[in-house]
Amino acid sequence: MDYQSTRSSIKASPVEAVLKGLAPDGGLFVYPQIRDLDFDWRSCVTKDFRSQSAMILSALLPGFGDESSIIEDSYRDKFGNDDIAPTVRAGSLYITELFHGPTSAFKDVALSVLPRLISHGKEMTGSSSETVILTATSGDTGKAALEGFSNVPGTRIIVFYPSEGVSAVQKAQMVTSSAENVEVCAVKGNFDDCQTGVKKAFTTIPQDLLDSLGKELSSANSINIGRLVPQIAYYFSSYSHLLAEGAIDLGDGIDFTVPTGNFGDILAGYYAKLLGLPIDTLVCASNSNSILTDFLHTGVYDTHREFLRTTSPSMDILVSSNLERLLYHSSGNDPEYVSALMTSLSNNGSYIISPEMLSAINRTFRGYHASEKEVADTIGSVWKEHHYLIDPHTAVAWCCAGKYLSENGSGRKMVVLSTASPFKFPRAVLEALGHDGSSDDFSLLDELSRVSGQQIPENLASLRTALVLHEDIVSPEGIRDYVISKLKNWSKNI
Ligand SMILES: *Cc1c(COP(=O)(O)O)cnc(C)c1O
Repeated sequence: MDYQSTRSSIKASPVEAVLKGLAPDGGLFVYPQIRDLDFDWRSCVTKDFRSQSAMILSALLPGFGDESSIIEDSYRDKFGNDDIAPTVRAGSLYITELFHGPTSAFKDVALSVLPRLISHGKEMTGSSSETVILTATSGDTGKAALEGFSNVPGTRIIVFYPSEGVSAVQKAQMVTSSAENVEVCAVKGNFDDCQTGVKKAFTTIPQDLLDSLGKELSSANSINIGRLVPQIAYYFSSYSHLLAEGAIDLGDGIDFTVPTGNFGDILAGYYAKLLGLPIDTLVCASNSNSILTDFLHTGVYDTHREFLRTTSPSMDILVSSNLERLLYHSSGNDPEYVSALMTSLSNNGSYIISPEMLSAINRTFRGYHASEKEVADTIGSVWKEHHYLIDPHTAVAWCCAGKYLSENGSGRKMVVLSTASPFKFPRAVLEALGHDGSSDDFSLLDELSRVSGQQIPENLASLRTALVLHEDIVSPEGIRDYVISKLKNWSKNI
């Protein structure tokens, strides 16, 4: 089974694709024949989440060893609920909750599996070097990656965060990380400074230095196919829940609304559909950074616009990397076409697809967006009507699901993916409920707990008393040397 770059005929085995992350030509790895896989989706929807995950892994990423034990190791002791992705109902909508992991956000699901794949993949290839993950974070990804890589053999991780750019809770989540193989460092600057510094470390640390220290550098962001595939399982899991509840019969089509940033989560839904799961429509929900909504309406992807900061920061993005994979699959697997679009994106900041391709994409994907006011109103009205508390990312999706349904009024069931616990964003949620959000983060957590009558998730509640273990701080120019000094230190301890 060969993966292939979206931009050329470069091929890679599943293991190579995961270990490399990005193809050497800058493209993303895809499996061109995914539609033709003989995947028994009917059997998959009768299984529990872990078995579904193992079945999907063995179909799409074979060659890493025993899939069931990889999945068991990935999720063991990490998810508070036995059910990793429970589905609940509020009125006529179904909500699949993806935030019961160690950092209360949906990235935990895939970031629990990817490190195991890297670790097993290295065993398979006989690589003896240690993989060091470098990550710049604006807040959420950092902690999810720290948890995911925590004590995974053969891996280490260094996370850089902007010293003034993250919330007190986010900072506390990171600097209290206690695993042996993790480092966390503040950067004097903003997120862009962090990202630029990390990119520079990737491109300027000499290969012979890495070789002599027995290290390889890698990244954990969502363009890695090993982060995408584990997410396919929760679409199957939602379908199973609806079946078990008697809401649908086997074979009935259902719709999903997905709060979207980098287009990874929603693309996993498309892959579930290509594997046979009866998904009719995927509603792509955006916040006021509505570039994807415009693209899905016009076929024009245009980054010439203002970057807006919203209450759903994990969806504040102008370039959604994984869209490239959808372009590949809906162009009839045409790497030349995709490559031309991506060249246009990097040269002109925009591209335009053909009307035929847009209508092919629109057969599954529909785009809607929610303004900041609509997000706050949705948090308020969902709480009032259903006594159900949602975070701003989920509220974006909820609002967009409503817009889609009022325009299209399908007879199908609609599932909204809920991607973060409301307790991760206590200020925005309290303000949406009409409360004062001006005190510090930890007081706001207590206040939200009091107002909602719900307990603060344990991983957030325990932060208040957790020991601070990481106090390093560097300038953006110092990131590269910081990485080198850590690499040298770690080599001494082997
Ligand atoms: C990352 C993230 C998203 C967006 O997911 P993509 O796969 O990047 O589209 C939505 N909600 C939350 C809470 C996230 O952390």
